[in-house]
Amino acid sequence: MDIEAELARDLRDAVDGGQLQVAYQPLFDLSTVRGKRGVPAAVEALCRWLHPKHGVLMPDRFIPIAERENLIADIDARMLETAAAQVGRWQRAGSATLGLSVNASPTGVDAAFARRVADCADAAGLLPGTLVVEVTETPPPQIATAVVDAIPLLHAAGIAVSIDDFGGSETTLTMLEPLAIDEVKIDRSLTQRTDDAAERAIRDLVAGAVRHGWRVVAEGIETAADLARSRARGCHRGQGYLWSAPVEAREIERMLQVV
Ligand code: C2E
Ligand code: CA
Ligand code: CA
Ligand code: CA
Repeated sequence: MDIEAELARDLRDAVDGGQLQVAYQPLFDLSTVRGKRGVPAAVEALCRWLHPKHGVLMPDRFIPIAERENLIADIDARMLETAAAQVGRWQRAGSATLGLSVNASPTGVDAAFARRVADCADAAGLLPGTLVVEVTETPPPQIATAVVDAIPLLHAAGIAVSIDDFGGSETTLTMLEPLAIDEVKIDRSLTQRTDDAAERAIRDLVAGAVRHGWRVVAEGIETAADLARSRARGCHRGQGYLWSAPVEAREIERMLQVV
């Protein structure tokens, strides 16, 4: 059996059997962070599969399979449950306003999903306004209607909506403008570009974000130069290897200096 088929076969049991783990990557406020040190403003939950035979598998290996096999909504819900419970504990331990971002594939984002997220935030006791759902990839040429319909339901429960991968997908500012979103994340491939076209694209996005009240997060900040550039461009938050790769909960606790 080839590995694709093998992973497709194993994924159902992996979801039910607790083989999926959460890695946390910190996000920082660019207005206050000084260089590589700082206290995270939020964390993003990223999925890892501890496969019994193949070891740690990264999401690029199995998320596409999960989408094809209709397992992605279950995976996203599992990740959300685990991460929300964890961040709820950190909030109560002293990081009262720490944010949590979870990824959600647009194929799984609908009214039922919105209810599930709201229940989960509630059960975890998350401070209202601290949970963000990142919609990972946009089916071009428009944002799926199910996603658009889910936004007011999420908002009603105090959950924010972020559009992931700007500059790494076919999403344009014009597509985003009519949406009642809260945040846009700039893909690493755009963050790290220094040419005039990239500069213009990001400045236009930030100007649009200011008009609409969106937060802009720059992903893929690896160097001091990436940080300086993203700050100069007016991005609000940053995420990247300059501070930390996705890590275990224990590492985040060191950064938060709580627990
Ligand atoms: P993403 O949501 O855009 O997440 C950011 C990815 O960039 C992560 O890869 C992260 O490890 C990586 N990254 C962060 N900072 C840097 C940096 O400074 N330099 C470089 N080179 N890379 C950086 P990861 O964890 O392999 O995740 C890949 C993608 O898989 C995610 O992209 C997301 O689209 C998807 N994904 C991960 N977990 C989940 C999940 O639970 N549900 C869904 N639906 N998708 C997920
Ligand atoms: Ca993401
Ligand atoms: Ca992204
Ligand atoms: Ca991505």
